[in-house]
Formats: sequence, structure tokens, C-alpha cells
Amino acid sequence: MYLVLLGPPGAGKGTQAKRLAEKLALPHISTGDILRQNVKDGTELGKQAKGIMEKGLLVPDELVASMLDRRFNEPDIKKGFILDGYPRNLAQARTLDEVLKRKNIGVDLVVYLDTSDPVVVKRLTGRLVCSKCGANFHTVNMPPKAKGVCDNCQGALYQRSDDNEGTVLKRLQVYKNEVASLIDYYKQAGKLRTLNADLDAQVVLEQIIALTV
Ligand code: AMP
Repeated sequence: MYLVLLGPPGAGKGTQAKRLAEKLALPHISTGDILRQNVKDGTELGKQAKGIMEKGLLVPDELVASMLDRRFNEPDIKKGFILDGYPRNLAQARTLDEVLKRKNIGVDLVVYLDTSDPVVVKRLTGRLVCSKCGANFHTVNMPPKAKGVCDNCQGALYQRSDDNEGTVLKRLQVYKNEVASLIDYYKQAGKLRTLNADLDAQVVLEQIIALTV
């Protein structure tokens, strides 16, 4: 199953992708996570991406495409994937189709996690991420058992530098400029399913799983 999760920042793509990856035994590929790892490691790509990400803008398509191409060369994607954070515009959707076609595979399903703005802002400005395993928590909706510590692996929790209100609003605007053409593209391909992702994460997860069977 080659599954793409679409939706605004804060729709829960990362949370759902992690759970789905576990449930369906598929790799979770997040372009945001790969970029953040590059920033952390101080790679050339990371250096180019850092400032752009902090402003809430999109990293240039060709940089993300070659990064993803490298990831797709790993053998685990033969089983399928849960793709989170890509594509983010029509050009990226076309690139994705081309890259996969060369490997004789293609996107099976695109789940659009439709989410309202106030929910997004609340989720992101309260989000806490584990520096070790990447698990997400929330200061109000899903606080960790011990302050600042991951329930799963005891890693330190941190707030992403782009999860402040100003950058969140910018990311939402960037997202809205591009999403309509993406939705049209996948609707025309007959691959799009839309879910209300303002609902509880567990409810949304069950609805996504129902779409994959
Ligand atoms: P995310 O973790 O998906 O919210 O992504 C965090 C940031 O990484 C975004 O605000 C962008 O700056 C960058 N990014 C992630 N995925 C992409 C992509 N497909 N194209 C361009 N930039 C991206």
C-alpha cells in the first residue's frame, strides 16, 4: 500500500503516519523529519533548509525531490509506504508520480485530513516532540506523565522552532496557497478520500484503516 497523507500542518499527519506505519508494518516517510535530521546533522542540505524551515516556507522542490529519491532507493519501500509531508504542491505531486513510475509502483490512496484553523493553531502551539523517538505530546490535550519527558522512551521533549504562533500562521497560509490544486489532482486520479481530522486522533486512525482494506 502506497499511502499519502495530505492536510495542513497540525492535521495529525505525523501522529497518524506513525500509528499506521506500525499497524500496517510499512515505513513512515516524513520529509519534515528527514529535513530536521539534516539540519541537526549539519549537512549541506540541512544548512540550505534551516532558515527556510524556520520561516515556515517551503524548501525548494528540487532539494526535497532528490532527498526523497535517495530515500526511495532503500529496499523497505518495496512493501509500500506512509508518506507524510509530501507532496506539498502540484509540481511535487507530479514528481512523485514520475519517480514512483520509474520503480513500477504508484500511489494507491491519498487521505486528506481536513482540519479547521483554530484546531491547527491550538495543536501546534502546544505540541511537544520527543528528541529521541519522535513521539508527539501536547501540553493540554495529551500531556506526558512526567513534565518534559517522553512516556515511551524517557527522551527529552522539546518544542519545534517552527511551532510558534507566527510561524504556524505562515505555514497555514503557504499550505492554503497550494492545497486546492493538489486536491484536484488526486480527485481527478480517483485516489482522494477526505476525513474530518478535527475529530479525536483514535477515531481518525480507525477511519483511515477502514479506507485501506
Ligand atoms: P513538517 O514537519 O511536514 O511540518 O515540515 C516542516 C517544514 O519542513 C516545512 O514547513 C517546510 O519548511 C519543510 N518541508 C517539509 N516537507 C516539505 C516539502 N515536501 N516541500 C518543501 N518543504 C518541506
